[in-house]
Amino acid sequence: MFKAIFAFVSCQQSNEKINNQWDGFVEFRKGNIPLIIVAPHGGDLKPQWIENRDCEGSVITKDLYTLDIAFQIENELNKIGYQPFIVYAKIHRIKLDLNRSLQTSHCEDDTSNELWQLFHDQIFTFRQEIINKYNRGLLIDMHGHGHPIQRIELGYLLTSQKLRELSGDEKSIQHDETSINSLIENHPENKRLSDLLFGDYSLGSLLSKNGFPTVPSSTDPAPKSDEPFFSGGTNTKNYGSKYQNGVDAIQLELNRNGLRQDSEDRERFSKVFAKILIDYMKFHYSDIFPSN
Ligand SMILES: [Zn+2]
Repeated sequence: MFKAIFAFVSCQQSNEKINNQWDGFVEFRKGNIPLIIVAPHGGDLKPQWIENRDCEGSVITKDLYTLDIAFQIENELNKIGYQPFIVYAKIHRIKLDLNRSLQTSHCEDDTSNELWQLFHDQIFTFRQEIINKYNRGLLIDMHGHGHPIQRIELGYLLTSQKLRELSGDEKSIQHDETSINSLIENHPENKRLSDLLFGDYSLGSLLSKNGFPTVPSSTDPAPKSDEPFFSGGTNTKNYGSKYQNGVDAIQLELNRNGLRQDSEDRERFSKVFAKILIDYMKFHYSDIFPSN
């Protein structure tokens, strides 16, 4: 009798998990512009029934306040009539890393496989919707870094060494090595890779000009050889235009002091970045960006 009750209870619990379809673990919304914002590392949820990622080499810290900033950016865009496509993870990185392949996203606890799949299927579906409707678009994969230099790092899949080479000799890098290959091939004003990285209307220069120092940009083209730098992870590789045409991707790594740490800074950044995103898209994706 006891066994039967126990079996019933545990069965009910596992059914609940399936029936809930991971509600609350990922938030997504369809947009009305060709922009997807993804935030994989800002979540707080640590359900006991998913094992901690305790195998060697696992980075388990959450990207502090990135989810808060992602929601604020969405809100700012809403105020001016734009809804970006969004895919935000609510699960803590100690349980699942959603900027890695399925096999390396956890430490051999397959419980979270469905969530990994749901998160990435959603990005894939939105990406495809954007391609069907606009032909091209942009994905921003939002993170926070703990590097000592307080500046935003933009990942286009170019290492700091490649950025240094490129800022000295723009012909040294083929643009098909980047996550913005589609943008360069289809640019309405035929801008080159160097314009997109270091020019006045590059994302880095727009951010720097508006009070958020950024590398690469016109004033800070490349990290020095001894400076740590994130050049773009799995999401930037898989959802950008290095391997497939259509949607470009940029990894946005936000510094902490003067940006993420204090709520006033987060609010200021979100307002500025929402405006920059629209200016950037109106300039670089002018042929496909909807007028309102
Ligand atoms: Zn991250």
